[in-house]
Amino acid sequence: MEVNESYRSFLEIWHLAMWYLFLAAVAVSVLMVIFYMIKYSGAKSYKEKFDIASVKETKTYLNANYVLAVGIFLLLNTVYDETVVLSPIWFGIRMFVSMCIATLHIYIAYLIFKYYYPGPLQKKLKKLRYAPRINPSTGNAMKLLSESEEDAYLDEGMQAEENAFSVDYDVWIDEETQETHIEKYQGHLTAFECDRCGFQTLRLVKETVIAEPTEIADGEIEKEFECSYCGRIKRKNQTLNKHMDKDAMVAHKAHVDMPDIHAIKIEIHGTNGKTEVFEFQNTDQAKHFLDEFEFDKIRE
Ligand SMILES: [Zn+2]
Repeated sequence: MEVNESYRSFLEIWHLAMWYLFLAAVAVSVLMVIFYMIKYSGAKSYKEKFDIASVKETKTYLNANYVLAVGIFLLLNTVYDETVVLSPIWFGIRMFVSMCIATLHIYIAYLIFKYYYPGPLQKKLKKLRYAPRINPSTGNAMKLLSESEEDAYLDEGMQAEENAFSVDYDVWIDEETQETHIEKYQGHLTAFECDRCGFQTLRLVKETVIAEPTEIADGEIEKEFECSYCGRIKRKNQTLNKHMDKDAMVAHKAHVDMPDIHAIKIEIHGTNGKTEVFEFQNTDQAKHFLDEFEFDKIRE
């Protein structure tokens, strides 16, 4: 009888604690989203909104959902008290089921933000990027120059970045005053920032295996980077993991054969309005992919 009494009072405290922690979790989750929204709507320009949304939006919603999942776990640990009071076994079962449901919430949120949300987000980012700009000093509507027109307004380093596809510049011009406004966006290909000229034009040009990895020891590889703007050459040695499996070794060798390609990203726009982005490590993979590509073949 006494055990039963102390179990009963423990449950009461537990119920209260779970309930308050649930409220705290929901509050944190909601605040995360509210802070993001305040930051986003407080941004003064479309470009600033673009940068905030592209970096923070998915992360914020995902993290808010993780905290919410903790809240769900806590809340579920307060239900069916009249059954749980019968035996501590029910207490354990309730906790286990709560954990399963919370994990399911995390999993679904992850799937949504990893596979579904990038589509709508891309659409939103596109709108922000191409929304007509207004020149703040004259109030005139500005015009976005085409790729061929914009070169005259970009310096050589910027052009080198555009040629490396690492950065994409948009040049907006006020046709009345000839005032220009340049916006910087991420390009389709990645390149490292050169530590001499500061442009994103440092690309991997050569990889030399200094020591092949064996069963017992790590190998070593020398990577040579070259800046396509200022010509700086940078060498960096990296460890080749001894546990690298066969596939990785083969992929690595293919990579060595294609020395000047660091990554390939392909964006495909269908007539059905669908846009898909794919990333590859070498041209063979990318070419092969294009041969194979059909919208219907995309994994849902
Ligand atoms: Zn450079």
